[in-house]
Amino acid sequence: MDKEQLKKEQPVVYRTLSNALKQDRLAHAVLLTGPKGAPKTKTALLLAQSLVCEHTDEDGFACQTCSACQRIQKEEAIDFRWIHGDQVRIKKKEILELQEFFESTSVERANRRIYFLEQFDHATPDAANSLLKFLEEPAPGIFAILSADEKSNVLPTIQSRCQWIPFRPASSKRLETQFLEWTDPESASMLAHHGYTIEKAQAALADDDFEFIHREAKDYVMHCEQMPKILYMQRNVFVPKGNRMTKEKILWFLDWVLFYFQKGERKISLQKQVAIREILIESADQIQRPVELALFLDKIYNQIRKVVIS
Ligand SMILES: [Zn+2]
Repeated sequence: MDKEQLKKEQPVVYRTLSNALKQDRLAHAVLLTGPKGAPKTKTALLLAQSLVCEHTDEDGFACQTCSACQRIQKEEAIDFRWIHGDQVRIKKKEILELQEFFESTSVERANRRIYFLEQFDHATPDAANSLLKFLEEPAPGIFAILSADEKSNVLPTIQSRCQWIPFRPASSKRLETQFLEWTDPESASMLAHHGYTIEKAQAALADDDFEFIHREAKDYVMHCEQMPKILYMQRNVFVPKGNRMTKEKILWFLDWVLFYFQKGERKISLQKQVAIREILIESADQIQRPVELALFLDKIYNQIRKVVIS
């Protein structure tokens, strides 16, 4: 984690951790929470490094370059365990193994021992209960770092045993700057202003259909009142039972259409623009329920067409 970046983007997190580290008053368990895209995992590693580094800076944070810091980064430190929870749920077995590992290592060693449980809000209930027992009897020198998207999905009894460090959501301006490193300005702007998180934006940009749908949506906006254009959409873009006929990709389409209408790409009255916006926002809501996707899209094409030719 770039310390300067953390200081700039999450000043409260930075200050809270800095004070705790400098005064050697970090709780034996810390819970980092915040939306996807907030640098919780990177901060957890920085925190683990700061607990073992012997070359900490004036704010109490690790140097990130010494061998102790490097070993944590590479997960090679014997006194550091990182249970990855980003792909699979953390299970009871892993908590028990962790417990066993820490109990087997000598308590007389002066070394601090740290474990990081990533995305603990997705851990199984059995895992959470096992951890609770572990947290109830904190052994000296052992530090727990937990991360979660949602604080409310962590057992209240675990919450109450942790120092809570909340991350604030990234602003759309900051997200746009980040997205610009990966894509063109138009896509960066659309993704940032339509509520895409870093993960969702990365997934969209990695999919060739995203750019395809982008181009088609732009052209659709220019000709949306023409029946041949609607026919073209049905036959070439969102084909019934085709690969692109998924909720996720239809949402990309709705977002792009909204983006171009709001940008004023199509010269229509403000009143019509507002009506189309309502159709698109309501559709994005409806698609969350079980709907027949091809019929659902046909309805949108027709509603937008009616507004434009009215
Ligand atoms: Zn260091």
